[in-house]
Amino acid sequence: MAVAVITGSARGIGAAIALRLASDGFDIALNDISEKSFENNDIMDKIKALGVRCEKYIADVSNGGQVEAMVKEIKDNFGSIDVLVNNAGITRDGLLARMSEENYDLVIAVNQKSVFNMMRHVVPVMMKQRSGRIINMSSVAGLHGNPGQFNYSASKAAIIGMTKSAAKELGSRGINVNAIAPGFISTPMTDALTDEQKKAIFEMIAMKRYGSVEEIAGVASFLAGKDSSYVTGQVIEISGGLSM
Ligand code: NAP
Repeated sequence: MAVAVITGSARGIGAAIALRLASDGFDIALNDISEKSFENNDIMDKIKALGVRCEKYIADVSNGGQVEAMVKEIKDNFGSIDVLVNNAGITRDGLLARMSEENYDLVIAVNQKSVFNMMRHVVPVMMKQRSGRIINMSSVAGLHGNPGQFNYSASKAAIIGMTKSAAKELGSRGINVNAIAPGFISTPMTDALTDEQKKAIFEMIAMKRYGSVEEIAGVASFLAGKDSSYVTGQVIEISGGLSM
């Protein structure tokens, strides 16, 4: 059975991708930063109910040592790593002139260095297999910028450069590397905005609505599956036509 690893997958977009890849037949290695992230959470049960194997691995993906140990454990337990989804991410928004060095460094470490950490250790496994799919979670903020998100936009723009460099380096080894750039996706955070704030956001979106986590997971499924075999180094924006 092919194996997919999804970082930051206890909830949100990561959990939706894990569930979708499980329904596509992948065995699933979930990751999140703490056991607490999996409390009051039925993602493992939902995945196992689909008849595939599912294990969870606790690691902070910004920490190279923890990632190295986790990747070794996943490879030892499952035997292969066929799909890697670098999804874990955080925001620490604020105006540039007031942004602390701590919040700049934290967002870069969790969103950007984590992608290096994971790829650094998973790519050798995929190179030996001579096949693999890597999907990196960027954002429209990385493509177009966003006020109040200097640190987040920097991390998500870097992910695009990392995706393209790795795609060029690994294409001849049978490893495809692509990025997804979501726009406004319906989450507790976006749902909590006032009607006025939502109206202002919908004005900018051709489809006049938020996207759903399942709509992100559908594109991840395409990038993880056989129909995307000749797609690499691409950034797929999923934003309902936020920018064209
Ligand atoms: P979310 O609901 O906050 O989920 C992110 C998950 O990552 C959480 O379970 C979180 O754990 C985990 N995580 C945080 N730091 C981690 C670390 N150091 N190591 C391992 N796991 C860690 O976020 P989301 O909205 O689903 O977003 C998922 C990805 O899509 C992110 O990369 C985000 O930037 C990107 N994105 C989201 C949107 C959107 O509208 N939601 C738009 C564009 C891009 P805890 O919370 O338990 O600490």
